[in-house]
This record gives sequence, C-alpha cells and structure tokens, in this order.
Amino acid sequence: MNVKEMRGQRIAIVGGGLAGIAAAEALSRFPFEIHLFEAKRSLGGRAGAFREPDRPSLIDRCQHVAMGCCTNFLGLCRRLDLKACFRRDTKLYFIDRDGKQHPFSSSTWLPAPLHLAGAFLRQKYLSKEEQQQIRSALWEMAPPQAAVTYAGYKMRDWLLEKHQSEATIAHFWEIVLVSALGAPLSEVSFTAARKVFVDGFLRNRQAYQVYVPTIPLQDIFDVQAAQRLGEKGVHFHRQSPVRQVAYFNSRFNVRYGHGDEAVFENFIAAVPWHQSPKIFSPILKNLMPKLDNVHEIESSPISSVHLWLDRPLTKLPHAVLLDRTSQWVFNHGSRQLRDSTCYYYQVVISASQALTGIKHEDLARQVLGELVSAFRATPAPYLLDQQVVTEKQAVFAATPELEGLRPNQGTILPGLALAGDWTKTGWPSTMEGAVRSGYLAAEAILRKYGHHEPVGDPDLPVALISKWLWGLGKED
Ligand SMILES: Cc1cc2nc3c(=O)[nH]c(=O)nc-3n(C[C@H](O)[C@H](O)[C@H](O)COP(=O)(O)OP(=O)(O)OC[C@H]3O[C@@H](n4cnc5c(N)ncnc54)[C@H](O)[C@@H]3O)c2cc1C
Repeated sequence: MNVKEMRGQRIAIVGGGLAGIAAAEALSRFPFEIHLFEAKRSLGGRAGAFREPDRPSLIDRCQHVAMGCCTNFLGLCRRLDLKACFRRDTKLYFIDRDGKQHPFSSSTWLPAPLHLAGAFLRQKYLSKEEQQQIRSALWEMAPPQAAVTYAGYKMRDWLLEKHQSEATIAHFWEIVLVSALGAPLSEVSFTAARKVFVDGFLRNRQAYQVYVPTIPLQDIFDVQAAQRLGEKGVHFHRQSPVRQVAYFNSRFNVRYGHGDEAVFENFIAAVPWHQSPKIFSPILKNLMPKLDNVHEIESSPISSVHLWLDRPLTKLPHAVLLDRTSQWVFNHGSRQLRDSTCYYYQVVISASQALTGIKHEDLARQVLGELVSAFRATPAPYLLDQQVVTEKQAVFAATPELEGLRPNQGTILPGLALAGDWTKTGWPSTMEGAVRSGYLAAEAILRKYGHHEPVGDPDLPVALISKWLWGLGKED
C-alpha cells in the first residue's frame, strides 16, 4: 500500500445515503481528501425523515430496522459511534387473526439452528401439520447445493413444489419474506429467499435479533454520522445535485449545483439504480455496460401509515400482524401533538402495490381498525391525525433476473466505482446491502493505491451444528 500516493488525492462520492456514508467512512481511514455530494438537504437517502409544519419532532419516512446478521451496518454504526441510537429487541411478537399474542424468542443456551426451535413450536397459529411442512422445507433449502439446484426458481413455485399449503405460505413464508425482499413470493427468487433464512435464522444465534432506531433516522445519519465523518475530514456538499461527471486527463470533472465544477482523481457514484446512468458522460457510461440495463431492475413500493391516537393501544414495542393488510406495527410511545399528548404508531406495509388508489384517510382508518382488533383495544382510540407515506421506488424486487443486472462496484477504470444497495452485494435492498456496497466501492478505489485488505466486517460465524448438518459457511 502506498500511503504517500494517497495523500491529498481527491475523491468525490455522489449520494449521501448509507452507501455513500459507508464509502466515506472507509476512505476517511486513509489520507485522502473526500467530498460527499448530496442532492437533498439532508443525508440518509431512503433511510431519512421529514418534519411536518405543525409537528415539532422529526418523523421517519418509514420505520427502518436491521437484524443481527447485518454485520457491516452494525460495524459502520460501531465505527461512527452510533450504536447507542438503536435498541436491540430479542423478543418478537406475532399477533394472529383473533388477537392472540405469540412471543418469539431464542432459547438462552441452545446453539443455532436449535435456538429458535422452541419459539417456532410456540407459534400456535401454525397447526402441527403446517409446522412439519415448514421444517421439511427449511431442511431442503438449507444446504448450499439448494441454491444451485433451484437457481432460477421463483419462491412461490418452489414452495408449492414442496407441498406447502396456502395457509403455511401466508402465515410463515410471506410474513418473513415479503418485508425482507420487498416483493410478493410469486416474484422473488428462491436464492434470495434462502439467503434470508440461512443468514437470519440458521447460521448464528444472534442473527434474528432486531435493531430498532430509538431516535429519528435523520438525527442518526444527517447529524451524528455527519458530525463524526466531518471530524475525520470529510467535506459535505448538501443540496448539491451532481449533474454530470466526465473524464479528462486522467481526472473526473464533476459538474454540480448551479454551474459549479470540481476535479477529482477518484469518483464513486452512490445513487439509486434509476438515477445512476444519468450522471455519467457517454464515454464513462460506455465503460460500464451494465448501466444500459439497470432500468430492468424492478422497483417495489413500501407504504408507512403514521397514526397519532388519543390513548395507547398496547405496551408491546412492536408486533407482526398476521392475516391483515398491516404487516409490522411499531410503538413510538407518547408525543406532543399541538397542545396535547398523543400516542404515535407506525405501520409498515411492504410490496404495497395493491394499495394504489386507496385514499390516505381510508387506509389510515382501515389500519387503525386492524390495530384495534389485533390489540383488542377497548374503548377504541380516537384518530387525532394520520399521515400515509408511500415510496414508489422504495426497494428493488429480489427477482431471479436481478443478480444478472447488478454491476460490480469496481469498474475497468481505476479510481471509478459504483455503490448503492442495487450493486452486486448478494444482499437484498437493505441498509446492510447499501453499507456493503459502499465498503466494496471503497476497496475498489483503494486497490488503485495497492491496498488489498477488506475494509468491512465478516459475516457472523456459522454455528457448528449448522456446519455439520448442512455444510453452511462453505459458500462464504
Ligand atoms: C420505505 C422504506 C422502508 C425500508 N425499510 C428498510 C428496513 O427496515 N431495513 C433495511 O435494512 N432497509 C430498509 N429499506 C431499504 C434501505 O432504506 C435502502 O436499501 C438503503 O437506505 C439504500 O441506501 P443507498 O445509499 O444505496 O441509496 P439511497 O438511500 O437511495 O441514497 C442515495 C442518495 O443519493 C442522492 N442522489 C441521487 N442522485 C443524486 C445526484 N445526482 N447528486 C447528488 N446526490 C444524489 C439521493 O438524494 C440519496 O440521498 C427501506 C427503504 C424504504 C424506502
């Protein structure tokens, strides 16, 4: 590695989402001059928040959570001293159609994959026969060879071939996979679905745990992360959309804002798939042929329904709702709304295409009705205020075609890299995928200077029993 050659070399990172932040964090460990350009007023990208005029506090556009298997996201938070901004939930709550609660937590001592066996048996909304169907399907999907045998399969087709009933699909597979992969099971690939179960449940005891932000995302990424990166010398250019980047005399010429220009030795584009091709000059675009096809990556919407109620619905911190339009509900406790105290809940509905055309007031009332029945809340709370936010291009759908469309982070031009959750990480559209992509893009830049060590974090270790039963870990 040639640290001397790095000194003073300028790097432009375009996009202040998790991918751009991670790339900046990794590169700030070396003596570069780093400039991060963000089109919007604040950093965080899709993991962002907004402020309503008559509400004093920031509101996350949509609740975000990470899991214990998100080692790179958690590593980034550790390095930027953000871990205190998240709480770790080790107990999940499923609520069936009759309002019965089914806690789901790991045994205190059993290793993976046995740690969740008891929790699984306690999910009484699944009949014995349904539980047996699930066990046998999990057993078949676990070995690495399954990813090869069933490559190209859509998950629903695979489940039907493995004799899973409609009830089993609705009460187990859809519950886990639709929110993780952002699309219905008739569209997502077997390979992506297998990865969710292997990484999240079969590999390591801690993998299933859920990390929930305890302060607004904007405070985490736009305030705290930016402050720590600023202390490490990263320069931020907010409200500075990059219009185009061209390549002259071995340098990247970046046009941004309202006619400003700057020159850099290195360039990372960390913008979403639907925007990436637009910022490159035709010559640079020709160097990245995969950008011609990224419009084929399918986007999927997520809706979040924010409810402010006059009384509390439940003491549970969150819950997964079965047999309802609402999928996850998060309890944000009491807040000040105008002059009174209210109780704020956020409901997340992934792959929400079917909600198109429903009026926001109607959706909010439907969701409140579902919460009242799920938590058997009497008397029913009064809806003081509501807000529905639908992100049409929230995530990309993990279809079988997706992997062939994702470009690597490194390009044939040293000093030019791509990042973003949609680039080739093997992960679905998540904060973890975004952070991994940022780290891989940083590694691509560092290779130009002879640095070949990884900058990210390893996956959680595979438990011995999972290695022995299925050979997990061999594909890493
Ligand atoms: C509603 C919703 C719910 C989600 N829930 C979860 C969850 O619970 N858990 C999870 O892990 N993930 C979740 N995700 C996915 C997660 O938010 C994304 O995968 C991740 O944030 C993507 O980060 P990114 O940096 O790749 O892209 P982005 O966050 O999209 O960042 C790209 C940035 O580039 C900027 N930009 C674009 N063009 C330009 C330009 N020309 N010049 C300068 N800047 C530009 C954009 O403004 C943006 O800030 C959710 C996403 C949504 C939308």
